[in-house]
Amino acid sequence: MPQVRQFTIAAKLLIWTSALIIVFFGTSAYLFRQVRHDAEVSSRIVTENHELDSAIQRMLERLYSVQDNIQRYRLLGGDQKAVGFIVQDLTRFGEILEETLAGHPRYRTEWKELTAKYEITLDPGETVGDSLAPNVTVREWTDILEQSLLDNVADMEAGLTDLHDAGQRASTVGLYGLIACLALGVGGSLGLAWSLNRSLSEVQRGIRELGTGATPRDIRVLSKDELGELALAFNAMAARLRREERMRADFVAMLSHEIRTPLTSVREAVDLIGAGTFGEVNEQQAKFLAIAEMETARLSDLLARLLSVSRMESRELVLDPVEVDGRQLVLSTLERLAPAAEAKSIVLKALVPDEPIPFTADGEHLRQVLLNLAGNAIKFSPEGSTVTVFAGRQADGVLFRVEDDGPGIPPGERERVFLKYYREPGVRNSVDGAGLGLAISKRIILAHGGRIWVEGKPGRGSRFCFSLPAKPV
Ligand code: ADP
Repeated sequence: MPQVRQFTIAAKLLIWTSALIIVFFGTSAYLFRQVRHDAEVSSRIVTENHELDSAIQRMLERLYSVQDNIQRYRLLGGDQKAVGFIVQDLTRFGEILEETLAGHPRYRTEWKELTAKYEITLDPGETVGDSLAPNVTVREWTDILEQSLLDNVADMEAGLTDLHDAGQRASTVGLYGLIACLALGVGGSLGLAWSLNRSLSEVQRGIRELGTGATPRDIRVLSKDELGELALAFNAMAARLRREERMRADFVAMLSHEIRTPLTSVREAVDLIGAGTFGEVNEQQAKFLAIAEMETARLSDLLARLLSVSRMESRELVLDPVEVDGRQLVLSTLERLAPAAEAKSIVLKALVPDEPIPFTADGEHLRQVLLNLAGNAIKFSPEGSTVTVFAGRQADGVLFRVEDDGPGIPPGERERVFLKYYREPGVRNSVDGAGLGLAISKRIILAHGGRIWVEGKPGRGSRFCFSLPAKPV
């Protein structure tokens, strides 16, 4: 058997789960990174920017105070108290500046040049005059700090915008990730289930068909996994069964032909002796001749059935559709079976309308079906019972029904009775038969596009039915 396996079911499952895990963890990792980034930005805003803002504000307060006191010093013409305040404010300014630079190393580089350039040194003893450097330096520092304050606010706003954008991005990625996970989860599992189910249904169909006793047909190989291999194995088995069935049919055909010729000679000999060609036949001889005649008739009937089955198996059943009358078919069948029914004191009842039931079908084959069903009904019914054959129109065709008061067929066996060579264990030893009549009947009805089945009758007995489509065959 050729190897087809490329993707095992386990590999398919692995690929699907991996894709799911990649999408799920990819999304989660992105979201985690985003959350960390957001936490960093917000911590920077809360600690760095906020602290810096307050430090700059405090430094500015000192510088504004210095400017006010310089003004005062000038107005009051060298007020020493003002000088004291100036020195105090500048000292405090210097301290805050040092603290800020220590806490925010970023500004150490940014303000490095500035601190060197705008260093404010004022000896408390030094006089503060118009041309004194601190006044200029203080103004410049004030400008720089005011600008830094604005920059810090802008930095904070940029941070907030960044946070907002990152939040938006995270929610979009999260949403798409979730949708992708859902789609992959639901779609993947559905797809996988669908593909497994498709292959399984095909195998199931083949096995079910095999169970009906029909000639096994190949099933489609729909995948390249274990189920594909199963389908291939099934097809190999079906091919072997077909081969064996053909061989069996050929053998049966050959055997039937071989037996038929000597059987014909035996029948003719019995007929000749019975007719007194070779001298008078006494009563006892006549009795045994009658038995021999009956047995040869039974044998040739069996041969005819075997031949008919093997013919049906070796080629398609060819129908010869003509206009037939269902009513007439029933009546003529019962006429043919009257002697057999009479022998068992069975009453044959035809339940047919007064007018004909015309439809198109192969009359000879249908008569054979009715003979098989009604013949079985007589065969399996107790003496003195009634066998009823019904024919009538129904919505989409014609319906035939054969009812008897025999042992009936258990529900579990009702499908199997149509299989070739099937005979119910209970009747195998007590009633004659080869288990072929119903199989032949089923082939004929199916070839007509109809349906054949058996029902139980309330109480005792069975009811064999078949329906045929109304359309011409
Ligand atoms: P045969 O009658 O030659 O054995 P069939 O194919 O006609 O073969 O029937 C198959 C089997 O179905 C019978 O052996 C019998 O077990 C069962 N069967 C058929 N018709 C009846 C019936 N009317 N009542 C009970 N059992 C039946």
